[in-house]
Amino acid sequence: MNKITCPVCDYLVDAVGFPVKDYSVSGEIFEICTCPQCTFAFTQPQPEPSVIGKYYQTTDYVSHSDTKKGLVNRLYHIVRKKNTTDKLALINHFAKKFASLPASLLDVGCGTGYFLSVCRQGGWQVEGVEVSTVARQTAEQRVGQIVYSSLEALMSTGKLFDVITLWHVFEHLHDINASFLQLSQLLKPQGVLILALPNLASADALHYKELWAAYDVPRHLSHFNPTSLRRLVEKHNMTIEQILPMKMDAYYVSMLSEMLKNVKGGGHHKGLLHRLAIQSKGKKGRQLFKFNLYN
Ligand SMILES: [Zn+2]
Repeated sequence: MNKITCPVCDYLVDAVGFPVKDYSVSGEIFEICTCPQCTFAFTQPQPEPSVIGKYYQTTDYVSHSDTKKGLVNRLYHIVRKKNTTDKLALINHFAKKFASLPASLLDVGCGTGYFLSVCRQGGWQVEGVEVSTVARQTAEQRVGQIVYSSLEALMSTGKLFDVITLWHVFEHLHDINASFLQLSQLLKPQGVLILALPNLASADALHYKELWAAYDVPRHLSHFNPTSLRRLVEKHNMTIEQILPMKMDAYYVSMLSEMLKNVKGGGHHKGLLHRLAIQSKGKKGRQLFKFNLYN
């Protein structure tokens, strides 16, 4: 049987899992494999970086889109506005701890630069990295400065940052160890790394199972829960300082998941109600993981 080395704990994992369909682009079936030793899960097979671009080619993939057509996109833009306010409040909270203001922010996977632009207006010195050429050009126009195409390109400048954010980006990366190393090298000694990730152990994931929209295969290559993430973080000599829920994202994922169950539409209201019901039981949805360097 084909074995794959777990990137978190190096255990040799059987490359078999449960099937999940790519609903939004290709219709292809992928598998979610789970490491029995550390509980890290990963998508199989993983399209190579040179070919994964075709799995992002749809107008329905709204994460990098500024269109406002359709109910889901309108909801997405409402969620984005609320989310951006919450994110800025979060990084402003950390900025108070830094001696030299204005504090510096790096947003990796900055998309069309919406968050970068809001942070810059809020007094932050900002830099962005975005791999998509179309999104990067939009971001450069929006923010009025260069946006880098890769972490490597940014690292050659020698800049370091007080806060680095990856809002639903880390799960898309092919080499999580190499990326984590680069991110830690880009942080100032007391810097804070903020990762927003879908949580495999969330009530949403457990309820919707293979229809959980946050599997989003094969665009999401890694699937974390707090246990596996902690293991990865500690392997890189960092520590998790805080785990926070992202309620708006959980609502959004629930709505998408409910629509996968009922593609004729109308299911999103049910999803929201169900989500509220889960919330009222005190369960947590998507999580925001925040790490701090040891030193
Ligand atoms: Zn493992």
